[in-house]
Amino acid sequence: MDTGLKGKLVIITGGARGLGYASATKFALEGAEIVLADINEEMVKESAAKLHEETGAVCHAYRLDVSRVDEIKAFFAKIKADFGRVDILINNAGIQIRNDCLDFKEEDWDKLMDINLKGVFFCCQQGGLIMKDNGGGVIVNMSSSTAVRTTPGRAPYCISKAGVKNLTMVLSCEFAKYHIRMNAVAPGWIMTNMLQDGFRLGVVSDKQLMAAIPYKRYADMSEIADTVVYLCTDQASYITGQCIHVDGGQTALGLPDI
Ligand code: NAD
Repeated sequence: MDTGLKGKLVIITGGARGLGYASATKFALEGAEIVLADINEEMVKESAAKLHEETGAVCHAYRLDVSRVDEIKAFFAKIKADFGRVDILINNAGIQIRNDCLDFKEEDWDKLMDINLKGVFFCCQQGGLIMKDNGGGVIVNMSSSTAVRTTPGRAPYCISKAGVKNLTMVLSCEFAKYHIRMNAVAPGWIMTNMLQDGFRLGVVSDKQLMAAIPYKRYADMSEIADTVVYLCTDQASYITGQCIHVDGGQTALGLPDI
């Protein structure tokens, strides 16, 4: 099947590792040209080199802190100068800061919101301006199934991801006239360091989570990446403004993690 991804320029924020890198790998295998943008300059350079080695794709590395609007503007100006276009933008960079609501610090709130929500908005804005001039494009924002459920010690994180889900719905309507599609992906639990930390800290347990996930297993990163890539293909040409939950049925069941 021709996905229409061959030769497309795909920018992935927070692409140096984790879900961003997993998505980059799938795009690269579809013949896309990849730009990994990440706050960790050393890691992003290594990851771009590794991705090229693994897939043979043309891969570029840029340093970008998505919490800084001045850096976002400078980054997209450089992308415009270097490539003249942005075909696909994946706003994947995100962090979590765990703490009880009653102890949550203002600086942690600001840091989390600046990366997880403000950064997504301004990347959409700056990437969208280039897409508009070039007749269209596709954007996927990384939300989380925590956008619609409660998870212990992570209230601001959940709120930021609910913001990403809503931002996607709102901006998709504004951007449609420029032929820019925009969707979000909301992963459920994946067996990553994030989850292992939760087990170690005792804030969640395997038993609790298995009771809340109808599919009775955690997601594999590649299952999230497959959904990100699908939403950017020609086969998804009429899908916009949606948030696709990839969570083994957890949202459908509706049991909180606590
Ligand atoms: P990760 O921590 O493995 O990777 C995040 C990447 O973002 C890192 O490379 C990091 O250097 C980069 N980054 C951090 N701050 C940045 C900034 N200010 N500017 C640019 N880059 C920055 O995380 P992950 O597990 O791969 O998660 C990726 C996305 O998926 C996040 O938005 C996360 O909230 C979301 N998500 C993850 C899970 C999960 O279980 N892992 C579940 C739901 C949603």
